[in-house]
Amino acid sequence: MRSEVQRTEKLGVISELAASVAHEVRNPLTVVRGFLQIARGSLDDRNRQYMNTALAELDRAEFIISDYLNFAKLQVETVSVFEASLDLHHTVKLMSSYALLRGVKLDHQIEPGLWVHANQEKLKQAVINLLKNSIEACHNGGQVKMQAYRDSQQVILQVLDTGVGMNEEQIKRLGHPFYTTKEKGTGLGLMVTFRILQAMDGQLAFESNVGVGTTATIRLPLTAP
Ligand code: ADP
Ligand code: MG
Repeated sequence: MRSEVQRTEKLGVISELAASVAHEVRNPLTVVRGFLQIARGSLDDRNRQYMNTALAELDRAEFIISDYLNFAKLQVETVSVFEASLDLHHTVKLMSSYALLRGVKLDHQIEPGLWVHANQEKLKQAVINLLKNSIEACHNGGQVKMQAYRDSQQVILQVLDTGVGMNEEQIKRLGHPFYTTKEKGTGLGLMVTFRILQAMDGQLAFESNVGVGTTATIRLPLTAP
């Protein structure tokens, strides 16, 4: 009992530490990114290629930090009623350079009028995690599509990809902490995503076929404006 309490306290301290380190490291990275982007403008083609690779690696560092930061701050704080479409457009735009760099086509079809009662930042993070996984699952030339629509009293947010796909066994393991099949994965993205949705009375389900692709579906209750 006592050791259990100590363990929980220790985990709390570790995740707090992780969060503050992640937070502190993120600021200089943002500054570096800004300056590199400015410098890119004056480069020739070959050096611009190098610069793009540097920027892509910075983005990857940022994603890793986000995984840990979100893991450490799991509780859903403020919820509000908002229209999800604008945020979704913004999120797709945010992920477009990540897709472009991997040679993946990113499309979207987002209906207006999707009112939800949720934490705006967390819902955005959940969608980012799904888009990121889908882009990473695709080979060069793959396709990812973000769909958002109403289905009677539910808001459906769907990310479809033509990636590597998963079998039953793999689908069952989704959301388990540190489950990753990627050389440089954290295995935290979906754990955070499942928890975020749970806290907002939402659901997340996966359908997949190996070699064909995957569909991730978020369902949230539709709310009145
Ligand atoms: P990470 O992305 O760091 O590996 P996640 O929790 O986001 O961690 O994902 C866990 C694992 O689930 C991935 O490593 C991958 O094997 C699998 N996965 C998630 N989404 C997809 C997808 N769209 N297509 C194929 N595999 C996926
Ligand atoms: Mg991931």
